[in-house]
Amino acid sequence: MQIDILTLFPEFFTSPFSQSMLKRAQALGAVRYRVLNLRDFAAGRHKVTDDRPFGGGPGMVLKIDPLVAAIRWVQRESADTRVILLSPQGTLFSQKKARTLAELNHLVLICGHYEGFDERLRHYIDEELSIGDYILTGGEIPALVIIDAVTRLVPGVLGGEGAAADESFQTGLLEHPHYTRPRVFEGHEVPEVLLSGDHERIARWRHEQALRRTIMMRPDLIKTASLTPEDKKLLAQMQESAEENR
Ligand code: SAM
Repeated sequence: MQIDILTLFPEFFTSPFSQSMLKRAQALGAVRYRVLNLRDFAAGRHKVTDDRPFGGGPGMVLKIDPLVAAIRWVQRESADTRVILLSPQGTLFSQKKARTLAELNHLVLICGHYEGFDERLRHYIDEELSIGDYILTGGEIPALVIIDAVTRLVPGVLGGEGAAADESFQTGLLEHPHYTRPRVFEGHEVPEVLLSGDHERIARWRHEQALRRTIMMRPDLIKTASLTPEDKKLLAQMQESAEENR
């Protein structure tokens, strides 16, 4: 997979791309990241990339011409691009969206800045994604969020193919809790079942914990999770005992 990032701040990506999983993904040849400086696509001696908004108002707006020149430059190399604009006005990014994007060959992520971008940019993109209902200074952090979530789903990147399978949201539920040594820490013990060596019991306990955690922390997810009749029975019992304890 190829991921191109169009930004005014290329240095933003230096450290994240040189560490941990994103570094590993490149070393494995699973993902190639390329950071393109929008200034290199701006015309004139001063390489201006922003301008005052028509109609007045505060702040500066990213100019359309360098943005479109950069998109066209990338598309000249590859006909198979998905151009994504990072914007707080876009569709909310999710694990489901990450799974869809991880199957593509070439992503192009556009990072806005200042007040945003010239509205006509929307004619040149395939989709617009937001990472949440808050305003960040630029699209660089949203781009990194999406790159991280997508890269770890590219086959081979996490090592064991099952590594991402149990994680929160992947199954429609939050993930079960984890423990490691010591067995007792300041009086807090590791659940006995995890020390039993009984893999079937452990799997059952973990699934129950995932259900319990989801209903407590994110009951909205339960509505869309795929549940077995056994899960539904367990959830009903959990709700009953929660009501009794109230
Ligand atoms: N004036 C814009 C508005 O109200 O919609 C916000 C502009 S914001 C300061 C500058 C840039 O940061 C945006 O163009 C976008 O690229 C990025 N950005 C900010 N918050 C974001 C979010 N929640 N998700 C995705 N991108 C975001």
